[in-house]
Amino acid sequence: MTPAVREASPDQAQFLAELIDAGLLLESGVPGVYGHSEVFEDVRDRLADRLSGEAGRRGAERLRFPPVLPRRQLESSGYLSSFPHLAGSVYSFEGDEAQARTQAERAAAHEDWSEYQEPTELTMMPAACYPVYPAIARRGRLPEGGVFIDAGGAWVFRHEPSHDPMRRQIFHQHELVRIAEPDAVLEWRDEWAQRGLSILRALGLDAELDVANDPFFGRRGRMLARNQQAEKLKLELLVPIAGPEPTACASFNHHRDHFGANYGIELSDGTTAHTACLGFGHERIVLGLLRTHGLEPARWPAEVRAELGDA
Ligand code: ZN
Repeated sequence: MTPAVREASPDQAQFLAELIDAGLLLESGVPGVYGHSEVFEDVRDRLADRLSGEAGRRGAERLRFPPVLPRRQLESSGYLSSFPHLAGSVYSFEGDEAQARTQAERAAAHEDWSEYQEPTELTMMPAACYPVYPAIARRGRLPEGGVFIDAGGAWVFRHEPSHDPMRRQIFHQHELVRIAEPDAVLEWRDEWAQRGLSILRALGLDAELDVANDPFFGRRGRMLARNQQAEKLKLELLVPIAGPEPTACASFNHHRDHFGANYGIELSDGTTAHTACLGFGHERIVLGLLRTHGLEPARWPAEVRAELGDA
């Protein structure tokens, strides 16, 4: 089944065409899946270094995970009840030689070969912070003061094909995670929301901080979204890039004890830890920079390049 593809607004479609013409994005033939040029990746790398630098100076420990998640972890996370429409699973061939031949023939003719594919123990990574919680839980009780993790710019997958260049199916989400006492976690989330605002504004982006909600699925989802908004669990940095609405370029999420309870993460006194995470969307921020300062980073204002360590 071919999924519905979200249409782009005229200025989003034009921006995408300009990015492709300039060679910054490399088309794959699937909406929302692009390669990046050297120029694009240079900016993205500098942004990643800037974010990891800010975190490292404040004591973050670097952990890195691959872009697939063990299926059991997805099952424990609650993601399938909140976002069943965005999740992706990894399938692989299970069969004999005759079935392999039929599968190959059907595939070569672009016919349906899905009946030979079985779910593996892996899913696509839906959020870069998900592997952090079980990894920290496995260490045992947290040290005094909790932990601060920099999970880096990790690939994440969201099944939402679109012709809007800001809405990718696979992109880099740079996550920072705090696991600690309730007060410390909330304070950290709010402090980083302000820091994120300062970082994006220093890059010349017209960013605003706002209370937000996730695109939860279905009727129950609308209630979850209202609660999330009323309790200010999710903050977002919005930047006008292209289209009728500004684009969320970073989010700051307070999970309270959701992951702590799910994975049994205990504070030094044995009570359940609270968690918060921040996600900076690398590609969206780079696209915001390209839209704001032009498609040639070498000609961006000196102060913006200096912020990215390219003085
Ligand atoms: Zn997260």
